[in-house]
Amino acid sequence: MINDNCRVCKGKTKRRGYLYICNDKSCRAVFWDKAKVKRKIKEDPVNRELIIEEAKIPKVKKGNHFLYVLRMKRNPKDIDKPYQKTEYNGETALHPYIRYLNHITKNNHSRKFRTDRYATALIDFKCQKMTREVAKKREKQLILEKKGMGINALGG
Ligand SMILES: [Zn+2]
Repeated sequence: MINDNCRVCKGKTKRRGYLYICNDKSCRAVFWDKAKVKRKIKEDPVNRELIIEEAKIPKVKKGNHFLYVLRMKRNPKDIDKPYQKTEYNGETALHPYIRYLNHITKNNHSRKFRTDRYATALIDFKCQKMTREVAKKREKQLILEKKGMGINALGG
């Protein structure tokens, strides 16, 4: 059994299929039962749609884009460096829950930053009516802001 406490605040979560959402409104971190979703999709790729359906993910309005932040585990090769919080920042026209599922199931994941291996939770996202180009610019800004805050901000 997966530990269903929130990976960020350790509080209670509610489960929708294989998706866990923190009950605490100020946290709202989300994570997938990664082992299960990977196994299900490997068994039959059609299961991806069922997993998404069971998670009751809201539909995204046309023209909307999201900026999202994934919490990342430390890469073992950085173990000798001073500790730094690591996050992956991205933009997407998909709902971020689906984008996050794609990251961990190697469907258009970041090969460079190995989001399939190191992403452990979706910790933030914002939705806005904007073009892909604007979303990409915002993503770059977000990465710079996070770096300024001392976060090891990946992406772009
Ligand atoms: Zn939480």
